[in-house]
Amino acid sequence: MPAPLSHRRSSKLATFHFGAAYYPEHWDAATRKDDARNMAKAGFNVVRLAEFAWDRMEPQEGKFDFSFFDKAIATLAKEGVQTLLCTPTAAPPRWLTLKHPEVLRIDVNLVPQQHGSRQHACTTHPLFRAYSQKITRAMAAHFKNNPHVVGWQTDNELHCHFSECHCASCQTEFAAFLQERYHGSIDKLNRAWGNAFWALTYTDFTHIQTPRNQKPTHANPAHQLDYYRFLSFAVTRFQHEQVELLRAANPVWFIFHNGLFGHIDYRGQFTKDLDLLGVDNYPFFDLDPVNRNRSQSFNFDRARAWSGNFIVPELQSGPGGQAPYFHDTPEPGEVRRMAYNAVARGADSVMFFRWRTCRFGAEEYWCGIIDHDNVLRRRYAEVKQLGAELKRLGPEVLGTSVHVDAAVATSDQIVNDSHSTYSFGLPGPTAMAETVHGWFFDNGFATGCVHPADDLTGLKLYILPHWAWFDPAWVKNLGKYVAAGGTLVVGARTATRTMENNITAATIPGVLRKLCGLVVDEYGRQNNPAARPLRITLKDTSVLSNLWYEVLKPDKGTQVLARWSGRHLTGKPAITARKFGKGRVVYVGTYLTKEACAALLPSLVSLSGLAPAWPGTPAGVQVVRRVSQEKTLWFFINMADRDAVIKKMPEGIDLVTNKKTAGACTLAPNSVAVIKTVAGTI
Ligand SMILES: [Zn+2]
Repeated sequence: MPAPLSHRRSSKLATFHFGAAYYPEHWDAATRKDDARNMAKAGFNVVRLAEFAWDRMEPQEGKFDFSFFDKAIATLAKEGVQTLLCTPTAAPPRWLTLKHPEVLRIDVNLVPQQHGSRQHACTTHPLFRAYSQKITRAMAAHFKNNPHVVGWQTDNELHCHFSECHCASCQTEFAAFLQERYHGSIDKLNRAWGNAFWALTYTDFTHIQTPRNQKPTHANPAHQLDYYRFLSFAVTRFQHEQVELLRAANPVWFIFHNGLFGHIDYRGQFTKDLDLLGVDNYPFFDLDPVNRNRSQSFNFDRARAWSGNFIVPELQSGPGGQAPYFHDTPEPGEVRRMAYNAVARGADSVMFFRWRTCRFGAEEYWCGIIDHDNVLRRRYAEVKQLGAELKRLGPEVLGTSVHVDAAVATSDQIVNDSHSTYSFGLPGPTAMAETVHGWFFDNGFATGCVHPADDLTGLKLYILPHWAWFDPAWVKNLGKYVAAGGTLVVGARTATRTMENNITAATIPGVLRKLCGLVVDEYGRQNNPAARPLRITLKDTSVLSNLWYEVLKPDKGTQVLARWSGRHLTGKPAITARKFGKGRVVYVGTYLTKEACAALLPSLVSLSGLAPAWPGTPAGVQVVRRVSQEKTLWFFINMADRDAVIKKMPEGIDLVTNKKTAGACTLAPNSVAVIKTVAGTI
């Protein structure tokens, strides 16, 4: 039985895989031989192949030819480089779409997608599912005894670019999904969706269409959310069919998918079918070099919150470019540092995108480790250095998990999808989690992301920011956490929507009333906060609320920590705290914006007893711990553009230099130290 999905789950990988995405079909035979040699020199033990090569493996329907990849795999294996294969279903060949144009996806404007790029076929369509199973079955049968094929990626970046489809098949399948969900009772569906509004009552499941928001005006949010649930269900089924075939062929293979994208429940069956999640990581989409470190860390932590440690099948190794943009080029040391950040925050394997930049195609400027001209330059040297270091470090991280003291709730599909159906123009749960996470990150705390249904044991401070859609089943786990001594902070608007995505009948905060010890007496959106400022004062700090206000009415025994000033709110409670068991619940009646975090979180940190990850670490140096019962690995990563002096390091072996640590340490920009200490010592 695989371990349950948890942010603390380590992978079962026996090898730390290090390599790149590789497309031998883009290069001639002599170059491929050179490539294998240069990969071995760079310390690669794996590459990922065949991701978009359906046309090469099944050039005509039913005529399979795997000889090209047999040779490519053998050439790589001669140099000690193993292979991860991909099911190639993100790019169905032309013979398929010519014969069956009905498998092309149809967007929200009812425009069919065209052949000529990728991800143009509908993963719900029974015909396309049959073709997907056919190529997967053929590949699995052909490669099952190849000792150099060690694992698989399913498809590629499912739901990247866009995830909706409104084709005829999706209408049928959506109706079947709803029939199952509402146990065949159309009355149940009508009640759940509130179809009395706008005369939306249905008499048969087959009469229901996929929702088209804004056509002509807003769709019903309950209808919309069930459609998002359907998208997740359908893509999970599509992947499941591939996984079953792969597992049946060779149960030793490990299987992952590379994401993460919208409308997929990565805490559900989608991930339970896999050995681990894959997280593609392109930090340079963030154009701010300082925030880039922060957002890269958040993205890894968010990924870990879905299901635990992960593989990075694609890490940016050069500037990324598509026709309308071209990223900054990573400076010397940045690629290596980004890879260390991945490992620190839960990666149990790292692969770069990609080995060499292709000279043609829509991604001809998505740059790899090697440039178009095949000259080995500084990025190759840097990757080679990392490869040598990971030979020592890689095996050490397997079996460890990332230590977190202060966590923010994130990584829930429905919470985000629900928000998107009715946002009020407010930032969504993921954006707000990133803001809170960023404050902890900047202030040197061991921060992470944890889902409220996960194991919360050991967290000093846990923040649940603005989860309007809220599953009542989570209350028990939160109560257990607080009763055991934790500090829970609940943000405004939490638990205001029901499972069906309607509005709760209970006074806010609904199912969290008992835990929080209050009701919300009045709330409002602040559309022009400068004209009518509202301020919260907490001890000697005060902050302007600029998105949302709530007037709190505490129950007996609930303490008022801060009050409003401004307009008719002056003197009314804005933040409260309630003791619950050995811990406490703090309710904050505003949005936890960057300014609010800076003003309010220091007081909440004091309340919770939270301490920095490694006291005395200068700003710009990130400290992360990966731990097991036997050892701790302390990652010190200098993200600043200047030298950083850490006055006292943990005592142990620096796995980067393979030397004992002694006292202080100076880290140059982009430098990293990874100190191994045995349990019970630092
Ligand atoms: Zn469809």
